[in-house]
This record gives sequence, C-alpha cells and structure tokens, in this order.
Amino acid sequence: MRILIAEDDRASRLILEAAVSRLGHDFVAAVDGEMAWRLFQTTKVDAVISDRSMPFVDGLELCRRIRAAPSAGYPYFIFLTALSDKDRISDGMEAGADDYLGKPLDLDELSARLVVAERISRLYHQLAVQRAELERLNLKLFEQARTDPLTQLGSRLKLSEDLALIATRIARGSARYCAVMVDIDLFKLLNDMAGHIAGDQILRDVARALSDAKREGDEAYRYGGEEFLLILPVHSLDDGLITAERLRAAVAALKIPHPRSPSGRVTVSIGVSMFSLDRANAILLGINEADTALYSAKRQGRNRVCQNAEAHSSRVESTG
Ligand code: GH3
Ligand code: MG
Ligand code: MG
Ligand code: MG
Repeated sequence: MRILIAEDDRASRLILEAAVSRLGHDFVAAVDGEMAWRLFQTTKVDAVISDRSMPFVDGLELCRRIRAAPSAGYPYFIFLTALSDKDRISDGMEAGADDYLGKPLDLDELSARLVVAERISRLYHQLAVQRAELERLNLKLFEQARTDPLTQLGSRLKLSEDLALIATRIARGSARYCAVMVDIDLFKLLNDMAGHIAGDQILRDVARALSDAKREGDEAYRYGGEEFLLILPVHSLDDGLITAERLRAAVAALKIPHPRSPSGRVTVSIGVSMFSLDRANAILLGINEADTALYSAKRQGRNRVCQNAEAHSSRVESTG
C-alpha cells in the first residue's frame, strides 16, 4: 500500500516512517495537516495515518476533508491518539476515521491495523472494478436496445424516444421534419426464392445504402420487417422528396438481382410526408400519411417516391 503519514512531531514521524517501511509499504509524509491535504489531492494513497493535533489543519479536519472528497478508492483512515486521550476516540470515528492507534507507537498494533487497511482497500478496489464493469454493461445494453441487431439502424425504442423530442420541437415551431417510409419491393418473393439468410443480407445491404445516402442529421430506423423509416429535418416537403429519391436511387444502384422484379433488381418504394406544425398529433398523422403515400407508390408500380395522399401523388423519375 501507499500510506499518507501526517504528523507534526518530527521524532514520531520518523518512527512511523521507519515502521511503515519495515512492514513493506510505501509512504508519503506531511509535517502538518495542510501539507497532508495537498499531498492527498495529488497522490493516490490507500491509507492515511494521521496525528490528531497538528497546526493549520488538524487531524479531524483532514479526515473530514478526505471523506468529503471524491475518490476512486477508499482511503482507510487511522488516527494517532495519545493513550491518555481515549475519551476523544469516538469523535475521530465520527469524523470518518476507521481506526485509531495509541501513542507511543506499538509496531505489532500498527501491523495489525495495516492488515485490516489492506483488506478494506482491496475490497473497495474490487467494488470499483465491478461498478465500472456494470456501468460498461449498462451502456452497452442501452445502446443495444436502441439499435436494430440485423441492420444496425435505430430500433423502434430509439424511434419513439427521438419522436418524443421531435414532438416538442414541432410544438415550439422551432423545426420542421419529413417522415420517409421505405419498403422493399416484392421482398417476400425474393425471400422465398433465395432463402431467409440471403434475405437478411439484402436487408443489411439496403439498410447500409439508406444510411450512406441520407444526409447528416437525418435518422434512419428499422420500422418493421423490410420497412425503414427516416426522419429528416427539412425546410419543405421538396427537401424530403429530393432525399427520398436519392435513397431510392441508392438502393437501385446496389444492383442486387431480383428475378421476379420488373427491373430485375431489388428496389424500394417510398412514401414521404411532412409533419405539420399545427396539428395536435402531428407525428402520428405524419407517419400515417407517409405510409399512405407508400401504398400509392406500390399501387403505381413500385420503385418510386410518392408524397402524402392529400397532395397529388407524384412519380419521381425512376431509373431502375
Ligand atoms: P411489396 O412490394 O408489396 O412490399 O411486397 P413484399 O413481398 O415486399 O411485402 P410482404 O409484406 O408481402 O412481404 C414482406 C416480407 O419480408 C415477408 C417476410 O418474409 C420478409 N421479412 C420480414 N422481416 C424479415 C427479416 O428479418 N428477414 C428476412 N429474411 N425476411 C424478412
Ligand atoms: Mg501533533
Ligand atoms: Mg415490401
Ligand atoms: Mg412491408
């Protein structure tokens, strides 16, 4: 262990330093409480052995400061107290000390106290390691719950949390957003022909293409089996339509073969709608409208982008 020794009496301090060394520990030594406090803040120590009465900052105050300070471990605190002062032991314990040693120093007693100090210090170290591991796992779980395991896009949980935030921004009128619903065309046929494992890989490839084609600030989520939802901050519906067309073209550009698709490759249909600023449940309505627009795109022949049903559905150039 490394031990902080705080003792203003020179002879006592030298005896203590020699004893601690003989018991196989490192030490740093302070000649008063103020110096001990400074050393404590700059040096990692496992235990403190401190005299009670010292100039400037006494042992009680040093102990209180150490207990109040944030610390990675648990510094075991031992008071030195004159044997005639036994009635003052408990106020030292109340200040946060773990144990006391009578003066003059008895080497066997010191050795016994340091055995306990080492045990407690090791336990606290183990606890700290376990806590760090728990925090790491918690963070990992947090991220896992918000990531779709197949595609690595946002999960439904992340979507619902993000939408709650977006709802407050919409309500404040501080931002505008588009919902972009993307659905792979004739995926069931492909799945049935190529098998689910190949189907899963296509889902990953399409998700990656969407991710790469979206702008920074756009968020992509796996909404259902072969359906993806993107939420885009936009100035107007046209912004959303331009991004949606880029997404559609990016998937077609993958040129994944699809024998039963008219274009011979995997394509997506897309519905776009704007979250309106002046409706109470703008988010729900907006997503529904994107869904309706998506079905228009399907009805009109797939591999295209449609805007929400209220506006007339518009076919955006499809390059196959
Ligand atoms: P449409 O163009 O009208 O969208 O036709 P579709 O065949 O894509 O639509 P449908 O809803 O009939 O089929 C979707 C298919 O997606 C059904 C299901 O087998 C498949 N699917 C859903 N989730 C997964 C998945 O996680 N992995 C794989 N491999 N297939 C999935
Ligand atoms: Mg003293
Ligand atoms: Mg589909
Ligand atoms: Mg679908």
